[in-house]
Amino acid sequence: MSKKALLLNATYEVLSFIPEKKVLKLIFKEKAEIISTWGDYIVWGSGKIKFPSILKLKNYVKINHINTNFSRKMLIKRDKNICQYCNKKLFGAQITVDHVLPKSQGGTTSFTNCVISCQNCNSKKANNTPEQANMVLLKKPTHPSYSSTYFIHDYQDQWHSDWDSFII
Ligand SMILES: [Zn+2]
Repeated sequence: MSKKALLLNATYEVLSFIPEKKVLKLIFKEKAEIISTWGDYIVWGSGKIKFPSILKLKNYVKINHINTNFSRKMLIKRDKNICQYCNKKLFGAQITVDHVLPKSQGGTTSFTNCVISCQNCNSKKANNTPEQANMVLLKKPTHPSYSSTYFIHDYQDQWHSDWDSFII
């Protein structure tokens, strides 16, 4: 398996995975600083350096967020397996998808109208809005971030544990 470096924006926002060639180019042009490394070395001029696992750009670049289609799997990732009403950690069959504005009241199946919830909360809420059911959402549902959508689908190379804190 090949190795890549995770490229972060100047604000620590995840940008992309980049191959060795691009890593060297960014370091050579002094456009990025090394945040963490893999265990092995790569040739650097007449010497060698540890292959970076995380690089951070020195200057901020503006990025456009990509769109992703709604899926239960992505919703569970976004909500980190936590019932968005009672804060309970959920696994497998315990997880239900709740429409914040119920379908019966015109709610859509979308990232901004769906959250995961436990079966208790979902049946308590039934065909009501949180207000009607006197329940409170932990947070307002939003479209998943660039990092979570991009990386879950597209990355197949060797994983570095330092990336865990940047990628959901
Ligand atoms: Zn719950």
